[in-house]
Amino acid sequence: MTQPDIIVIGGGIAGTSAAAQLAEHADVLLLEAEPQFGYHATGRSAAIFIRNYGNAVLRALNAASAPVLQSGAGISDTGLLSPRGELLIAGEEDITDLENYAREATGLEHLRPDQAVELVPILRKERIAAAILEPDAQDIDVDRLLQGYLRLLRGRGGKTVTNSPVCNLTRDNGLWRVTTKETEYSAPVIVNAGGAWADQIAQIAGAAPVGLTPMRRSAVLLDAPQGYDIDRWPLFASVTESWYAKPDAGKLLISPADEDPTHPHDAWPDDMVLAEGLHRYEQAVIVPVTRPTHSWAGLRSFTPDRTPVVGFDPEQEGFFWLAGQGGYGVQTSPALAALCAALCTDKTPDLSAEIVAELSPARFARE
Ligand SMILES: Cc1cc2nc3c(=O)[nH]c(=O)nc-3n(C[C@H](O)[C@H](O)[C@H](O)COP(=O)(O)OP(=O)(O)OC[C@H]3O[C@@H](n4cnc5c(N)ncnc54)[C@H](O)[C@@H]3O)c2cc1C
Repeated sequence: MTQPDIIVIGGGIAGTSAAAQLAEHADVLLLEAEPQFGYHATGRSAAIFIRNYGNAVLRALNAASAPVLQSGAGISDTGLLSPRGELLIAGEEDITDLENYAREATGLEHLRPDQAVELVPILRKERIAAAILEPDAQDIDVDRLLQGYLRLLRGRGGKTVTNSPVCNLTRDNGLWRVTTKETEYSAPVIVNAGGAWADQIAQIAGAAPVGLTPMRRSAVLLDAPQGYDIDRWPLFASVTESWYAKPDAGKLLISPADEDPTHPHDAWPDDMVLAEGLHRYEQAVIVPVTRPTHSWAGLRSFTPDRTPVVGFDPEQEGFFWLAGQGGYGVQTSPALAALCAALCTDKTPDLSAEIVAELSPARFARE
């Protein structure tokens, strides 16, 4: 039976990045249920880094992750970000939302409606009462990030196994016995990076679930509107997050920004949700929506307070949580991987003690 120091369950961006950082200090095994890494949420993201996206804890994680993504930091020879920008538009009825967003954010530029239309010429000017631009928002090369972490992990001697859904977890004599469909492993520490399945994994291990809700989010690709060069357009969105659009390799990615609670599964889009979302988008632009060339959905999994859960379970020894990344899991992965590695190897985290406490699973502990 293989016995590494740490077994990471789940080969999305969370588990892969954490395994790579842990492998600097420990013997690590990464187990993924699917035939390939990044098959679920990670492979379905909109691939954007937005520094002001999320609550205060998430913004601290975004800030801590930015330098790593910017430089590549041993994950990739070159940086993993490229310029995009994010333009948020508000109608009269959404001004308060825009003001609230701007109050908590940094590095924003306020734009007049005509300036917003200059950036994205298909926007309907008469529908815009105010707009803000976050020039620092950037595209993330998610595949290069994931592959880079896998390379780093293997280069540090870590092992990776796909097609290995963990189906049983028991603890005996200070070791977790980890059973997959074909093999048994054991390790003193397991990291639960199971994405939408993280609560189910906890239950198998006898740990209390944290109350994770997988929420479906969908997207389509449309041909670029005829006569427009869209490559340099920013991501543009309604400030109420009722839709967003983003250039994507010559096409236009549009998301209804749906957040429908569901159960852990291989998600697919609902036609009605797509149609309604495309309708909301269409009302904001002067070009008709054409037939989608591709559509997909993924699960963004949230804890009850919408802050990730990272740290050792307060009751189950050797059971480490790395879950609940919601809509921010790619952009926060460097900071969360570093935190996971620090806490699992008894080092002082780079993040402040307040942020570490806000991420801790102890906040969900049974009364
Ligand atoms: C449409 C959409 C757009 C998004 N846009 C962005 C964005 O622009 N920027 C951003 O930062 N984030 C974005 N996100 C969110 C981001 O994709 C997620 O937060 C992130 O991918 C979560 O990573 P993860 O590794 O936790 O989950 P996942 O990628 O889902 O990985 C979890 C893995 O665990 C495996 N697993 C589960 N159970 C077991 C088991 N029992 N045994 C072994 N393996 C198991 C699964 O097969 C899966 O591969 C978006 C998400 C969606 C759906």
